[in-house]
Amino acid sequence: MRFDTLAVHAGGPSFTINGAHPTALPLVPASSYWYDSADELDRVLGDQLPGYSYARYASPTVVAFEEAVAALEGAPAAVAFASGMAAIHAAVRYFAPRSDAVVFASSDCYGGTFTLLGNTLTNEGLNVKFVDVFDLDALEHRLREEHPAALLVEVISNPLERVADIRAIAQLCGNQGVALIVDSTFTTPCLIKPLELGAACVIHSATKYLGGHGDVTGGVVACASEEQAGGLRNWRKYAGSVLGVLEAFLCVRGIRTLSLRMERQCANAAAVAEELSGDGRIQEVHYPGLASSPYHDVATRLFPDGTFGAVLAFGIEGADKQAVMRFMERLKLVRAAPTLGDCFSLVLYPVIASHRGLTPQERHDRGIEDNVVRFSAGLEHPEDLLDDFDQALG
Ligand code: PLP
Repeated sequence: MRFDTLAVHAGGPSFTINGAHPTALPLVPASSYWYDSADELDRVLGDQLPGYSYARYASPTVVAFEEAVAALEGAPAAVAFASGMAAIHAAVRYFAPRSDAVVFASSDCYGGTFTLLGNTLTNEGLNVKFVDVFDLDALEHRLREEHPAALLVEVISNPLERVADIRAIAQLCGNQGVALIVDSTFTTPCLIKPLELGAACVIHSATKYLGGHGDVTGGVVACASEEQAGGLRNWRKYAGSVLGVLEAFLCVRGIRTLSLRMERQCANAAAVAEELSGDGRIQEVHYPGLASSPYHDVATRLFPDGTFGAVLAFGIEGADKQAVMRFMERLKLVRAAPTLGDCFSLVLYPVIASHRGLTPQERHDRGIEDNVVRFSAGLEHPEDLLDDFDQALG
């Protein structure tokens, strides 16, 4: 089946109710299950027989979501978590179980990941090093010299839309026996399937495009092997970071329209990027779909369908923090909420949101100046988005 068809059907209900097949995924909220035979329950609890026993271990609606994600990523299995952060935590610990293991992560990674690795897990003893994943020669050298257990990379960085060459990085990791963990939240399997390129696993914050409607918090790891999925399920069983049943239902419902949403949202982002890059009130637009982007070539090679994601960032000419705050207040259609990937368009100001924990100097070192705003394109008509930016820029 082709991707679009899979998205509509994967994870569909596989059981009948008195001979009737439900067309939509049943929402099964049961927190535990009983059997006519106590021996059967015993065997299910002992993992000698497949089956449901306790919802923290597995439940049908969550499994349907996992099956849908596995199908879309071309993975043997996927494991769903309560949030993207819970998925990242589990994956890092799966590949780096030793308390003092060395783990590399992209220095451009999402702020929450940066804090989880740089503070929480570092305080627990993990030896975390943030590395430049855009300098492949230096990365190869460091992988060879320091031999980390894992490298965590996002395909498209936030907010400056730098594109990591996942194909080349997977090869470097493969050569050194390093597990490559790819956070593909911004890209979704519509743009790239990192497992096909050699990644050890793929993570999504399902809160973003998979859910897609701004009404669910969830995460998922698509695994390269059943063994890995078993390890992650076991982690989740005792960490308790299982995805809720309603959330799983909403994620599957979101996946049904993922292809169409991504197509439109990427097209809207491209239209806004094009327009703003020719606007004198804008200093610079960061979007890999623009021919002027230093990441256009790598993005063209990695995303063969000619779509470049639905997020972009731009700097407002001469704007300081106060000017950016007033710009966000003047927006009438685009909402200033700290997320992305929803069906409605959003802006985020890194200075007060994703990168608020960094000093102005640290932000400057990463190229995130005080005038930079991130935009996540929704499903609106592009002309309405452009009109809103036009009036808000004044
Ligand atoms: N990964 C990326 C790239 C993100 O942008 C985010 C959140 O914004 C996360 C992970 C964390 O996801 P969640 O908020 O679902 O825990």
